[in-house]
Amino acid sequence: MTALRLAIVGFGKIARDQHVGAISATPGVTLAAIASRNASLPGAPHFATLEDLLRDGPPIDAVALCTPPQVRREQAARALAAGKHVMLEKPPGASVSELDPLIESATVGGRTLFATWHSRFAPAVEPARSWLASRRISSVQIIWKEDVRVWHPGQAWIWEPGGLGVFDPGINALSILTRILPDPVFVTAAELYFPANRQAPIAANLALSDATGVPIAAEFDFRQTGPQSWDIVVETDHGRMTLSGGGRRLAVDGKVLSDAPEAEYRGLYQRFVEITATGESDVDLAPLRLVADAFMLGRRHIVEAFED
Ligand code: NAP
Repeated sequence: MTALRLAIVGFGKIARDQHVGAISATPGVTLAAIASRNASLPGAPHFATLEDLLRDGPPIDAVALCTPPQVRREQAARALAAGKHVMLEKPPGASVSELDPLIESATVGGRTLFATWHSRFAPAVEPARSWLASRRISSVQIIWKEDVRVWHPGQAWIWEPGGLGVFDPGINALSILTRILPDPVFVTAAELYFPANRQAPIAANLALSDATGVPIAAEFDFRQTGPQSWDIVVETDHGRMTLSGGGRRLAVDGKVLSDAPEAEYRGLYQRFVEITATGESDVDLAPLRLVADAFMLGRRHIVEAFED
């Protein structure tokens, strides 16, 4: 099998921190070029835009779109039209409806569209799903609190419409939730806290449920200093299951069942290599729909202005 020749588009924090290393650690995929307006990687052919890359660059089979969500739809449409497989960073779009034409274009062209949810590849997520499959769930609590200044320094796009604010990390929790619970969930209420000078929330509290009425509470906060929390606690008829560290550790009543080093992006690239072999797409919009519904149902509160 010849390796998938892939270009990274948008060479920012996640491209540097995760994509480059995961690509070199994954058989079947190789980094062929970078398209980014300002940033480049020594040794890799560089183009300012995807358009330039497609016109003047080396041959590629696929792109990984690591740009902010507000500009990704147009890039995905362009890449699919050029016959390339497309990996989308999360969230898959700036709106839910913009995904439909992309899915259609991928299907018609026989190309892969992969809407990634990296947190679902955290090592304890599948063990948690299996453990919960045979348990009766009585409640779920999500606590996802991080310091935006540490994790998203200077990322102005996150505060703009479509940037999601605190839902940028919060959607990772929802991607895990929708993977580990046996039944679909929906939002019943939301409180959204917008800084006076921003277009996206800095904190949010969500109430969700499933069809059987299981109460699910989620607290997302970008203002957390000190210890950071990326935890999901599920009360069941067989004890309290805790999935912590963003899906890395699984414990039941304090007994650790799974604690492995993270390899989320290698998991994503393995999956991408696998599905591009057949041109199959993998687009699950459940987490994005929950965020859209939180905006739709959310009660808005204005809080202190946020300065980076
Ligand atoms: P980032 O550091 O801001 O990087 C995005 C890059 O895209 C920028 O460095 C910029 O590079 C390019 N870009 C920005 N605005 C653009 C525009 N209007 N048109 C074209 N290119 C533009 O953001 P990031 O943290 O890497 O996040 C990117 C995506 O990955 C987000 O959806 C985020 O949710 C997801 N993600 C991030 C993390 C994380 O820890 N940071 C983790 C998982 C997933 P140039 O200036 O060179 O064009």
